[in-house]
Amino acid sequence: MTETCFEMLDKRFKRLHIPTARLDILYASCRWAEGPAYFPAGRYLIWSDNPNNRMLRYDECSGEVSVFRHPSNFSNGNTVDRSGRLVSCEHGGRRVSRTEFDGTVTVVADSHRGKKLNSPNDVVVKSDGSIWFTDPTYGIDNDYEGYKSPSEQDGTHVYRVDPKSGDVRVVADDFVQPNGLAFSPDEKTLYIVDTGATHVEGGPHHIRKFAVGDGGKLTDKGLFAECTAGLFDGFRLDTEGRIWTSAGDGVHCYDPEGTLLGKIRVPEIVANVCFGGPRRNYLYICATTSLYGIRLPVNGLKTF
Ligand code: MG
Repeated sequence: MTETCFEMLDKRFKRLHIPTARLDILYASCRWAEGPAYFPAGRYLIWSDNPNNRMLRYDECSGEVSVFRHPSNFSNGNTVDRSGRLVSCEHGGRRVSRTEFDGTVTVVADSHRGKKLNSPNDVVVKSDGSIWFTDPTYGIDNDYEGYKSPSEQDGTHVYRVDPKSGDVRVVADDFVQPNGLAFSPDEKTLYIVDTGATHVEGGPHHIRKFAVGDGGKLTDKGLFAECTAGLFDGFRLDTEGRIWTSAGDGVHCYDPEGTLLGKIRVPEIVANVCFGGPRRNYLYICATTSLYGIRLPVNGLKTF
């Protein structure tokens, strides 16, 4: 029997893992797996293989993997909106797009104040239909994850797209490289990762938290957690408000107060995670070349 992949750092993690559960390796031919998004009605997962400029689909019923979109405009983070539509961050298109029910792809945001965005990285949709995304430079830094291009923006910001007007507004402008983001179950808190350490020596490698006010106004509530192994990237919450986040050595689980409870050790650097399965108790893990999955005794937060 192989060694467990779980690491308990706080006794509360005891009921947050199944000791006999093992990591399933579902696919292993990516260059950089990112952006998992689960579609419960079809029981499939869409994710990005960013440097290969494609999106893949894992069929949960058959276990088969096929190409969903190629080229994908170097897609990165994906999510499912409140109506069940795919929303994608595209490095190559320097935009956030939405795949409509008829299959056409429409633009959610591609500019701010008349200038191109950098390269949207990750996206989340609030229950009021507003779309929130981060805009670091990873997709314009070189030709590996997109197209090398100069930035037209005055920084790397976090944006909100108004659900009625479609207006694209900056909601946070003091990040080095904003990355993964997600709301707490009551949507009163927004968590946002800064992976600035990739660009600034000793730079940020943490999750910050913000109070969410009317009209999308954010109030800085300080540091939530600093990564103890590499960088956080994308993350998701469970129904109890715990954060299951990517990290350099696997998936880290934090309680809502910011205490690291335990880890799922993964043999590759993890970029993002997503709950799936009919009960949302299967965690999909995008980790460098591979898509992994593991059964948990918790359920992912229902976001639509
Ligand atoms: Mg990311």
